[in-house]
Amino acid sequence: MNNHTQYTEGGAGLRPQPTLGNPQNTIAVLNKYGFNFQKKFGQNFLIDTHVLDKIIAAAEITDEDFVVEIGPGIGTMTQYLAYAAREVCAVEIDRNLIPILEDTLSGYDNVTVLNEDILKVDICRLAEEKNGGRPIKIVANLPYYITTPIIMGIFESGVPVESVTVMVQKEVALRMQTGPGSKDYGALSLAVQYYADPYIVANVPPNCFMPRPKVGSAVIRLTKHAKPPVSVEDEKLMFEIIRASFNQRRKTLANGLKNYAGLSYTKEQIEQAIDESSFEPSVRGEMLCLEDFAKLANNLKKIG
Ligand code: SAM
Repeated sequence: MNNHTQYTEGGAGLRPQPTLGNPQNTIAVLNKYGFNFQKKFGQNFLIDTHVLDKIIAAAEITDEDFVVEIGPGIGTMTQYLAYAAREVCAVEIDRNLIPILEDTLSGYDNVTVLNEDILKVDICRLAEEKNGGRPIKIVANLPYYITTPIIMGIFESGVPVESVTVMVQKEVALRMQTGPGSKDYGALSLAVQYYADPYIVANVPPNCFMPRPKVGSAVIRLTKHAKPPVSVEDEKLMFEIIRASFNQRRKTLANGLKNYAGLSYTKEQIEQAIDESSFEPSVRGEMLCLEDFAKLANNLKKIG
């Protein structure tokens, strides 16, 4: 692997230029270690240098950044990140990949690999230890089976984060970015937009991965808001209302809220809050924006 390593001025000094990211070198690494892909871990490795360049550019990685990478695989994007950033911590669940990562990342002295499940890692602590509690950047080609828990976990646990730049399933990227009136609009759109400003950077076809996924993919950058765009007294209540509204999409907002086990308001209280929010009695949740949900939550809180 290191026979033809080229060292050039990377983010913070002389660093090896990334060598992975094309099909030939990826296959060479996989063969060397007799690696078998594990479907249960959502393993689809990137084999396109243009896509990798786009991700690094969209994440705006500089030599001041501490970056957490989720699921480094054989270390393809990790090389790009290590080349550009001050320091990288890559969290990989599959222990079969650890010896491979030791090899592919051996030229970089600014990378730590943790053999852990990202859903169990205390990212707040990592940010504290490695970045003095300052906002970090998170970058990943995510394992699609846990996209939502990973992203919501990052935002809800209050990790100091500047941006999250991730490859996700194309439909999921659309859901995160869209607004009222679209069929893709739902609880995920509102939850993400409460915490961050979403921007779809690129669509990525299946042939950019090995093995090819059955679905299209997209890179999305979520830039964390300095403060939420709406003022809401009880966040938990607002998110329960959102969940209730989209749980039964075809029902009116009032009926959706009345029938939802997570909310314990009477029919009269719900109707009063809808009225005080100046919504039509027949309104459906899918027509309301984040500001509307915040208003409704604040009115319901006042009543109950
Ligand atoms: N970053 C690599 C690339 O782009 O080629 C691999 C991306 S692959 C889509 C997802 C990676 O996440 C795999 O390496 C997989 O083993 C890892 N992974 C899956 N579940 C994980 C979890 N719960 N915690 C940490 N890593 C996980």
